[in-house]
Amino acid sequence: MTFEPCYLRTYESGALARKVEDALRLMEDCTACPRDCHVNRLADEKAICRTGRYAVVSSAFAHFGEEDCLRGWNGSGTIFFSWCNLRCVF
Ligand code: SF4
Repeated sequence: MTFEPCYLRTYESGALARKVEDALRLMEDCTACPRDCHVNRLADEKAICRTGRYAVVSSAFAHFGEEDCLRGWNGSGTIFFSWCNLRCVF
């Protein structure tokens, strides 16, 4: 049996496009996290997380610090975003 990542099925079935539409609709009156700011992020309005229309990627790399079953031989894909809705100092 050939391994196929589930995201390929999500893409091919059209479910990914629907999820993108749902996420964009959510941004118009943002309740993406429990802060429930209700700002229009599609219009680049910002609130607690200071993230407007576009997220800012801080870094992306193969992460080797996870357990073996998660990272395999090539590392797990890791993406860190800037800003935070928890307002921590990092
Ligand atoms: S903190 Fe950011 S993601 Fe969370 S509800 Fe407010 S605007 Fe949306």
